[in-house]
Amino acid sequence: MSENLEKTLLTQNVEAELKKQVQADHGKSIADCTDRELYLSVLKLTKDLIKSSTVNAGEKKVYYISMEFLIGKLLSNNLINLGIYEKLDEVLKANGHSLAALEEIEPEPSLGNGGLGRLAACFLDSIATLGLPGDGIGLNYHFGLFKQVFQNHAQTEQPNDWIEDQSWLTKTDVTYEIPFGDCKVISRMYDIDVVGYENGVNKLHLFDVETVDESLVRQGISFDKTAIAKNLTLFLYPDDSDAAGNLLRIYQEYFMVSNGARLILQEMKEKKYDLHELYKHVAIQINDTHPTMVIPELIRILVEEKNFAMEEAIEVVSKTCAYTNHTILAEALEKWPLSYLEKVVPQLVPYIQELHKRIAAKYTDPKVQIIDDQDRVHMAHIDIHYGYSINGVAAIHTEILKNSELNAFYKLYPEKFNNKTNGITFRRWLVSCNHELTALLKEKIGDDFLKNADALEGLLKYKEDAQTLDQIEAVKRTKKEQLCAYIKEKEGVELDPDSIFDIQSKRLHEYKRQQMNALYIIHKYLEIKRGTKPVRPLTFLFGAKAAPAYIIAQDIIHLLLCMQEIINNDPEVSPYMKLVFVENYNVSYAEKMIPACDISEQISLASKEASGTGNMKFMLNGAVTLGTADGANVEIAQLVGKDNIFEFGVSSDEVIEHYAKGDYVSRAYYRGSKTIREAVDFIISAQLLKIGDRTRLMRLRNELMNKDWFMTLIDLEEYIKVKDGMFAAYEDRDRWKRMMLVNIAKAGFFSSDRTIAEYNRDIWKLS
Ligand SMILES: *Cc1c(COP(=O)(O)O)cnc(C)c1O
Repeated sequence: MSENLEKTLLTQNVEAELKKQVQADHGKSIADCTDRELYLSVLKLTKDLIKSSTVNAGEKKVYYISMEFLIGKLLSNNLINLGIYEKLDEVLKANGHSLAALEEIEPEPSLGNGGLGRLAACFLDSIATLGLPGDGIGLNYHFGLFKQVFQNHAQTEQPNDWIEDQSWLTKTDVTYEIPFGDCKVISRMYDIDVVGYENGVNKLHLFDVETVDESLVRQGISFDKTAIAKNLTLFLYPDDSDAAGNLLRIYQEYFMVSNGARLILQEMKEKKYDLHELYKHVAIQINDTHPTMVIPELIRILVEEKNFAMEEAIEVVSKTCAYTNHTILAEALEKWPLSYLEKVVPQLVPYIQELHKRIAAKYTDPKVQIIDDQDRVHMAHIDIHYGYSINGVAAIHTEILKNSELNAFYKLYPEKFNNKTNGITFRRWLVSCNHELTALLKEKIGDDFLKNADALEGLLKYKEDAQTLDQIEAVKRTKKEQLCAYIKEKEGVELDPDSIFDIQSKRLHEYKRQQMNALYIIHKYLEIKRGTKPVRPLTFLFGAKAAPAYIIAQDIIHLLLCMQEIINNDPEVSPYMKLVFVENYNVSYAEKMIPACDISEQISLASKEASGTGNMKFMLNGAVTLGTADGANVEIAQLVGKDNIFEFGVSSDEVIEHYAKGDYVSRAYYRGSKTIREAVDFIISAQLLKIGDRTRLMRLRNELMNKDWFMTLIDLEEYIKVKDGMFAAYEDRDRWKRMMLVNIAKAGFFSSDRTIAEYNRDIWKLS
């Protein structure tokens, strides 16, 4: 029987197949099973079904190498992409169960920090959906990113043991010996299938070491970092924007790329391709600088094991590797001390030095050197000199790279620079997380938009249609009710679905300016205390993890958790506003919060958010953006027009100028505005000090007044004004509903299918 026929039969007989599976696994009927038993059987069935699907293939394949893949739960998405979600849900419901209940059983894989890892996951979905051959390469962290637990109004971190006996991971027989300076480890590859939407499958390859010892973990997430073979894949480095000098991180990075390089060369060999034509069969996309060592590692293997001359090895590898830049934050651009690399990967050092020498011989500008005068290796510089493409992730970000941050490189290689504005997969961020909106869209414009996201624009013809506008509003109301129920259960706070849901959910970082939102909330709280009540109750929601070592970020969480207690327990205030900082924000939580959002907070300091993808998810689900002219917000504004977004804040040019001149003085803004003074001073008010930690609160206020590196106060007054204007605009219900409709209709551009089609057209050139 052909594979496709087998698949067709299986999809047509979902009920019979599930019955069989359940009987074999548990010896009872579907109705008699617990949700967990059903989950395990559906998992098995789905994995079998995927096995009989077509594997995407072609003459050339892309490998997306990334330290993070924030894939989220996979059950619903795989069922949707296989086309059996609805059928299976029917079968379960007929037997007194539901897929929604099974979804709650599945643990969320914990393999990413935030946007960068989530982007990699969306890209894998779109690569498979477009039928392109392309696999992910990463690490199988046992405890991944920490689980966030709040205690005494502060974040604590716990290991996140997400791997169960039966999971989406499949153990393979691929193993390699990976040498380090002071030891050797044996790797093992695990695979997760990546199912395209009504298309073939690819793989996510996750490397692990079998000698990992989970008992090494002591209090919270601390552990003995010396025995590499025992701890290499225990944890994901808990920060995607601050690569503090950490040897373990270099061990992890080399482990990933060395395995990746070996896998790629093995597949070349199996397909009997000529290694001298590597670039005709392979494109390697380097996700931020973390996988940069794949360049010298491939060159090393070609020279030492495949008889390549140095010159040709460099040329072949340079024509194979492409680099994506994700940030202009200086602290996030990796610069490893040469001495660290000598300790961890001495075998690579001569190759890095060779790459450096060739550049030093050609160019004298110190800004473009690979090894600087303090013997630090600039990883991004390796990527730019020895890769064939460098892309930014939103139009404004790429312009900043070309014109300021990487200008010296742009002058050398203008042809290498290109923009690829990020995107999100609509299968997860619309179909899976918002069945109600998906159904409404299908009713109005057919289901073309599922494969051709631009077709969402068809919704525009209903812009003046009262019935459609009411239906969109009704969907939002339903999603708000669902979130209220979930938050009541998880956080123990009762929320009003008739209030305005204002949400800021993303990693906690000063540049994202959760502290500015906190100052707004203080301001609003004080206004209500003085008797000025909002027309309609306001609900402020936050979700964010902070890197454990990032003190100010922890202080900001502390402030918000204290404000949550003060506001929600004040009978004069809580009828008019509530605040909830949800615990352990992750993909699953995002899938519940985003569809329920009215106001999407995208308030980073202009020039600092490379793109953002949260902004796109909120827009797609009918939230209206309150944002600065930063990252993809700029493109959102162009698409929806000034009338359908609320913009504020200084421009990226102004910000860059302030940094160049060093002339931003936060204290001047504090002195110049009573509103600002009042909000900032409240941080150390008797009320806050009574429940909060004096050290934390004093430190945070001091930071805002005396440093404020990300210029919170420069935009605060305008932020307050525009946000209040937005709450007023919400009361013009017809206008607001139209804004929702326009935002949904214009979100098509942000489908990661579009992004991946562009990567393929301009960079990978797979057939
Ligand atoms: C999309 C997403 C992010 C990225 O959000 P930004 O607002 O772009 O920073 C972070 N975390 C999770 C769980 C996400 O789903």
